[in-house]
Amino acid sequence: MKKVISAKVIENLLKEGGDPRSLPANVIFTPAAQDIISNFQRLGKVKKSKKQSPPIVPNYEYTWKEGSDVRTSNAINEFFHSPEIKLLKERICEMGRRLYSKDFTDGNGGNITIRVGDDLVLCTPTLISKGYMTPDDICLVDFKGNQLAGTRKGSSEVTTHIGIFKYQPKAKACVHAHPPYATAFAIASVEPPTCIIPEAEIFIGKIGLVNYETPGTLENAEAVGKMGVDHQAIIMGNHGVITWGKDVEDAHWKMENTDMYCKTLWIASFMGKEIRNIGSSKLKELLEIRNNLGMDDPRTGMRECELCDNDDFRPGVICKTPNQMKNDKQTAYSQNCGPDVEDFIKKTY
Ligand SMILES: [Zn+2]
Repeated sequence: MKKVISAKVIENLLKEGGDPRSLPANVIFTPAAQDIISNFQRLGKVKKSKKQSPPIVPNYEYTWKEGSDVRTSNAINEFFHSPEIKLLKERICEMGRRLYSKDFTDGNGGNITIRVGDDLVLCTPTLISKGYMTPDDICLVDFKGNQLAGTRKGSSEVTTHIGIFKYQPKAKACVHAHPPYATAFAIASVEPPTCIIPEAEIFIGKIGLVNYETPGTLENAEAVGKMGVDHQAIIMGNHGVITWGKDVEDAHWKMENTDMYCKTLWIASFMGKEIRNIGSSKLKELLEIRNNLGMDDPRTGMRECELCDNDDFRPGVICKTPNQMKNDKQTAYSQNCGPDVEDFIKKTY
């Protein structure tokens, strides 16, 4: 009987610097082993004939020439079915699957957009599960929300995304979902505190909170759009979260980051301990890292005393540094010397 060589055997051989071509001719390779050998031979040839290329930083941002939006129905149709747009439609479907798999959307909840012109937006349709979309489901609308292409009707909530695109030109894509932890902050109207976790400061920045407005209305679009100028993640009161990014995956990451941050805060609030604040001087270092990664932050240039300002109610969170707390005690006491105030301070701190 011929000897069968598995993928594992080939992997080990390659790890030790061996060559599969040195194996006897009367052996049988499993299909997986054959794949590894073909790859080895192919890559071996590439190495000999080509110089190694520099590493690539992926950039999925869609760019267009200002003032060059398609106008006629034929041109719109051609544009809508072009390979570049097809790729973006596929990426929207992929982000939809990710949202759905993480329980960030249920039923037909959530929507995703990519800006593809001065006045053109690719968007997910209404009444569809974000986990099961195909590229043929995606629509094209203008900034007034008029449908330009696509067989399914675009979501009415696209107006909120357009609000962000109008006020923040750096926003090239938006993701809206109802992730449970961040949405819990939305219904409790709690703005997540800052100065707690370094990655949150670097990759999300300060999370914005806007008051409830009916989804899909211009009031909501205005409030969210204005908040989007300085915030990449916005919690919409009693509703959910909308995030923007330089491309659709970036916008999706902001959604993941936001919900994970809210989840971590929520869990920590049950531990019976103070949630510590890293302090303003450390935040300044993080803002520098954020700026070096090409992400603006409205807090850059603020005075230290203005950073880490978390005076609102936060469950389980005492966001002031020990020095701030000491100063507050002295200020409050010197301004209000009555016994009630002293008692309050003792109880509070
Ligand atoms: Zn919604």
